[in-house]
Amino acid sequence: MKALAEGLYQLPIPIPYPLKTVNLYLLKGNGEVALLDTALDTRTARGSLELYLAELGLCFADIKTVLLTHHHPDHYGLAGFLEGLGARVYLHQEELSRGHLFWRAPETFEEASWRLFLEHGTPEEALLGIREAMEKTRARVHPPQSPIPLQDGAVLEVAGRRLRAVWTPGHADGHVAFFLEEEGVLLAGDALLERVSPNVGLWAYTRENPLKDFLASLDRLAGLGARVAYAGHFGPILNVKRRVQELKGHHEERLEALLDLLEAPMDAWSLSLRLFPQELDAAGRRFAFAETLAHLEYLRAEGLLGREGPPYRYFRA
Ligand SMILES: [Zn+2]
Ligand SMILES: [Zn+2]
Repeated sequence: MKALAEGLYQLPIPIPYPLKTVNLYLLKGNGEVALLDTALDTRTARGSLELYLAELGLCFADIKTVLLTHHHPDHYGLAGFLEGLGARVYLHQEELSRGHLFWRAPETFEEASWRLFLEHGTPEEALLGIREAMEKTRARVHPPQSPIPLQDGAVLEVAGRRLRAVWTPGHADGHVAFFLEEEGVLLAGDALLERVSPNVGLWAYTRENPLKDFLASLDRLAGLGARVAYAGHFGPILNVKRRVQELKGHHEERLEALLDLLEAPMDAWSLSLRLFPQELDAAGRRFAFAETLAHLEYLRAEGLLGREGPPYRYFRA
């Protein structure tokens, strides 16, 4: 645990994914305790959160407010557990009908999810691995029953601090960063990460052009004038504007690489194998596919690619 400022702590919690830990943020002040993000619901995560709380003389039931940056399992998995102990859980309204519903009522998107993979060239056996990985994750997610919808620009007064919700879609449709204006501190969630480029994926339940959303969100974050950003994984980002430029540059390169690969029409799954040639497990391949698809649909919306099918194949316009 790291104290970042008076009453503001960073709690790194282990997760069984390549990123290894997720950073939660605890706010304490005015006799109130709030937690930003919650980690995946595993025994290790619960135990490690409980130990951090004990170091501060607290227990789970002391957390009265939970702020969620987005619906991904490593940030949202324990939200239902904490809600059950009396916490109010806040989630951006855009997540309620999308990412949140994906966990709460999986049947809503099930057919569309598998169809998306199959229509874009995913082989049946790869899909089987993806299904298994998803079921494993589902067992570790405990969705909140009645999250309070957050709107862009909402100002919350919690634990002696004022936090402004900044809607930053792209990594997730209802992703929210929280800006502590008076301190110039941005709690960035996964909208900005120090060492990796946040995954931007197109899924059956997402908005239609997540990469366009993501690039616009980066500009928004750069314009806040934050002195430092603390993110959902890895260390602090001391120069937000520079990190934004790096991430935009990364996506430009990837878009060019995709155009270069498209000498002949090809489906999204095959392109994802070329764009991400490294060895990946089923979950990793799923993210690689969704990210490739987000880039392809971005290029299509820009008029640079066409698409035939289903089964879909992309070609240079
Ligand atoms: Zn995420
Ligand atoms: Zn994350």
